[in-house]
Amino acid sequence: MILQGKEVAKHIHTELKEAIRPLKKPPGLAVILVGDNPSSQTYINMKRRACEKVGIRSFFHHLPDSTPEKELLELVKALNFDAEVDGILVQLPLPDHIDPVNVIEALDPKKDVDGFHPVNLGKVIAGLEDGFIPCTPLGIKKLLEHYSIDVAGKHVVIAGRSAIVGKPLAALLMQNAPGCNATVTVVHSRTQNIKELTRQADVLIAAVGIPKFIKADMVKEGAVVIDVGITRKEGHLVGDVDFENVEKKCKAITPVPGGVGPMTVAMLLQNTWLSYQRSHSSS
Ligand code: NAP
Repeated sequence: MILQGKEVAKHIHTELKEAIRPLKKPPGLAVILVGDNPSSQTYINMKRRACEKVGIRSFFHHLPDSTPEKELLELVKALNFDAEVDGILVQLPLPDHIDPVNVIEALDPKKDVDGFHPVNLGKVIAGLEDGFIPCTPLGIKKLLEHYSIDVAGKHVVIAGRSAIVGKPLAALLMQNAPGCNATVTVVHSRTQNIKELTRQADVLIAAVGIPKFIKADMVKEGAVVIDVGITRKEGHLVGDVDFENVEKKCKAITPVPGGVGPMTVAMLLQNTWLSYQRSHSSS
């Protein structure tokens, strides 16, 4: 079975559009891009188009590559106080002279719809529901739920331990909560005998950023395989899984493109809507 993230994301877009349509003033997402990295520009365009589709206003701040960190921090702080803005997205990577940690920590956690701020990451670990769950982990959970793939009691192996995918995904799927309760193993570049571990996975999630890293002999027969990886190669997007060979032995698999990527964007919209609802219910 192919897990069609693109189709699931479309359903989510439709639901959001219906919810937002009656509002006089729809939610607003501030989108910050520093520099002209072509991949970042593609991602930003995708996210802005998705906002437009569901009726979220996006406010685009395109700053030159030479922007001093201080100036970026000032913009973030101004957006924190801007009542029109429900969510703030800073597209990564940033130019080398800007420390992404400083920028993420400058965000108001209540507007951090990407879920990268330490407060929001901490809330995922603590199992508190009033933060924002990072979009890719949340999108993977929603995708599994959509296809009724229950991870409870299952062995989930995650390849990759980044702060935006692997770590929060592990924390999320091991929670004592609906759609979670997995037994999670995380492997990384210092793990020995990776294959021994990945072959035990009922659900194998690859987020390493190395094309075709997961080969068929690393996967258990009948496993579910989720491919987070996106690498641009000769004009195409390539995942972390050797799809052609792995597909034959697994029960379900996500394609690249059209799998996790669209779910990540859908969760950004959903988190922006959530932020709007929270700020309007407390005022
Ligand atoms: P990252 O920060 O570069 O982290 C990569 C992780 O993979 C690290 O933990 C690294 O281990 C591990 N790794 C690298 N080489 C390895 C090896 N040979 N064996 C085992 N583990 C290895 O990447 P990321 O931001 O998590 O992104 C991962 C991939 O997902 C990228 O292709 C990215 O473009 C993609 N992505 C896609 C989406 C989406 O929406 N689909 C969202 C975010 C990211 P160490 O920690 O030991 O270095």
